Amino acid sequence: MFHIILFGPPGSGKGTQSEKLIAEYGLIHLSTGNLLRSEIANKTALGLEAKSVMDKGQLVPDEVVIGMISSQLDAHADAKGFLFDGFPRTVAQAEALDKLLKLKNSGIGVFLALDVSEEELVKRLLGRGLTSGRSDDTDEAVIRARITEYNAKTTAVADYYKQFDKVVNVPGEGSIDDIYASLKTQIDARMH
Ligand code: ADP
Repeated sequence: MFHIILFGPPGSGKGTQSEKLIAEYGLIHLSTGNLLRSEIANKTALGLEAKSVMDKGQLVPDEVVIGMISSQLDAHADAKGFLFDGFPRTVAQAEALDKLLKLKNSGIGVFLALDVSEEELVKRLLGRGLTSGRSDDTDEAVIRARITEYNAKTTAVADYYKQFDKVVNVPGEGSIDDIYASLKTQIDARMH
């Protein structure tokens, strides 16, 4: 099994690149943002709790997202590998993920971090808000709060994986195809 973490701030293109990567490598896409939005759409208790936090641009509690990921790993026990998108977002989530993968005699193959400037992020997210129907993309204050939350809690996740020599930074500005080609080069260099 080969597992990839696609890392980067909100609006860095993780969702777009994930779609291409899972098609190419036959991985299972685990996006905690998508999983949470589907809980919200299904009006579950978890979804109702998560929505109020997400609409403020804050992070959902660790135990909630770790629980979701744990059941997804079990649900796809025969997967070739997983692409983690938007997870882990805190060091506690990263430690929990390592434990879950270790139980399966597995671990992260590569941690790919997309680098995008803050002004470009805000521009992209406001643009996405015009069509995505995502309430957290329409309000610039919420977008800025998500970036603040990212800087406060999530950037430390990259430092955590640096100790295992897993981190590769990839420029996240430019054409979608060029960014994808850079990601693919890094994956292919480590997969075999
Ligand atoms: P983006 O990366 O564009 O912010 P996501 O779809 O990944 O969008 O996440 C949307 C929201 O869902 C986040 O702002 C956060 O509230 C919540 N969320 C997603 N993943 C996590 C996670 N791993 N831990 C805590 N909260 C999360």
